[in-house]
Amino acid sequence: MSLLRQPLLLLARSSLVKRVVSGMPVSAGIVRSYVPGETTESAVGAVASLNDAGLRVTLDFLGEDTTDVEQADATVAAYLDVLAQLGAQGLTRIAEVSVKLSAVGQFLPENGHKIALENARTICRAARNAGTTVTLDMEDHTTTDSTLAILRELRKDFPETGAVLQAALHRTESDCRALAYEGSRVRLCKGAYLEPESVAFQDKAEIDRSYVRCLKVLLAGEGYPMIATHDPRMVEIASSLASRYGRAAGTYEYQMLYGIRPEEQRRLAASGETVRVYVPYGTQWYGYLMRRLAERPQNLTFFLRSLISKS
Ligand SMILES: Cc1cc2nc3c(=O)[nH]c(=O)nc-3n(C[C@H](O)[C@H](O)[C@H](O)COP(=O)(O)OP(=O)(O)OC[C@H]3O[C@@H](n4cnc5c(N)ncnc54)[C@H](O)[C@@H]3O)c2cc1C
Repeated sequence: MSLLRQPLLLLARSSLVKRVVSGMPVSAGIVRSYVPGETTESAVGAVASLNDAGLRVTLDFLGEDTTDVEQADATVAAYLDVLAQLGAQGLTRIAEVSVKLSAVGQFLPENGHKIALENARTICRAARNAGTTVTLDMEDHTTTDSTLAILRELRKDFPETGAVLQAALHRTESDCRALAYEGSRVRLCKGAYLEPESVAFQDKAEIDRSYVRCLKVLLAGEGYPMIATHDPRMVEIASSLASRYGRAAGTYEYQMLYGIRPEEQRRLAASGETVRVYVPYGTQWYGYLMRRLAERPQNLTFFLRSLISKS
């Protein structure tokens, strides 16, 4: 684990840092490299160009930790808008949406869980009508049980709803077993949040070993694994495990984030693999950007240059 990851994630919680960084325009180099824009049009435009490159997409309307109902409603409206535009442009065959439950009300002081479930249901219905699917992003470990409970409810009506599991958590191998059933779409990632030792592996090597154990469970299982990593070793291991378990291309997919290893995304797609790019858009890019910087502190110089050139 990078020495800078923890201090960066802690610093990201400071409201002063948030104010300064959020004042940067989305066009600032570092923001633009991870987020194609703030509007629905910019998101749909990114889908169209990734489609031209043979890539699929999952769109994330940025925002998290919503504490008021209006903001949660606005997030739902943004998803309905983007789904309608994807439908109108014939892009729902290759593009779906990713939803953070905390952006649609999970943390509201009253009935948060129930409101998030109903809001997610509204988005799943619109996605189904438009001809596509929803994946529920996974946030920090305090939300895992609530998120998986909402997933179970949603799958009663929308079995195509995707789940996300984080290899960093001790519980995840067992969650993978529970979710490796037919038709179950499961995105496996390492986990982007700062988690305590009591629930999560701290060491990169341990997280990687857990990732491989989880990959084995998912690829040997009956579901549809979505292998979300930029790690060349994990991609290589996934590819040999897919052969070992007799998985044909198209019975699983690779996923990477917008702007990260784009040549590798295209290389995998050109080799016949299904590759989906996670594309975040909107004005609330702060938390997302800080997690990406914490993963890759080499980008700090680029980031500081963006801040300086703004002032
Ligand atoms: C599609 C997708 C969806 C995700 N959804 C969630 C979610 O719902 N919840 C959640 O907690 N996390 C999510 N994540 C984030 C994930 O948990 C990790 O934090 C993030 O992907 C970094 O881990 P990594 O597997 O890429 O490997 P890391 O261990 O971060 O990196 C390993 C190696 O990958 C390569 N690499 C990594 N980043 C770069 C880069 N910027 N440029 C070039 N090479 C690079 C380098 O070789 C590096 O050594 C998601 C990730 C993806 C790809």
